[in-house]
Amino acid sequence: MALKYSKQRQAIWEFLQDRTDHPTADVVYNSVRKDYPNLSLGTVYRNLMLLRDIGKVRTVDVGDGIIHFDPQVREHNHFICSECGRILDIGGLDTDRILADAATNFSGKIEGFTVNFHGICADCLKGKQKAPADDVASR
Ligand SMILES: [Zn+2]
Ligand SMILES: [Zn+2]
Repeated sequence: MALKYSKQRQAIWEFLQDRTDHPTADVVYNSVRKDYPNLSLGTVYRNLMLLRDIGKVRTVDVGDGIIHFDPQVREHNHFICSECGRILDIGGLDTDRILADAATNFSGKIEGFTVNFHGICADCLKGKQKAPADDVASR
């Protein structure tokens, strides 16, 4: 099937372009269908996968069984907040070195890797310090 220009795909791409929160297909669908009421979730999903195949977005697997979409295709890794579930970008890792280290202990050919960091994001840390409501309630 030939790649034909699609206004819907363009709208999906424009929605994703400046997102840094790694939305799921559902989130993209709920937003883009405001302008395209005939759009189905399946169409959104197919277009997202197509955008990934042509290198416009990448998919992120953070182990929750849901595919997240990321307009940042440059090499980077992710941090998942255990409090609010947000996925944040972490850059600046020496990925060449990590690959080289892994290759020294492995006889096959390593072509890439994924690292997910876990913890509590800055906003949740701040919130915890400001409102110790849980502590009061449990006493
Ligand atoms: Zn958080
Ligand atoms: Zn990302």
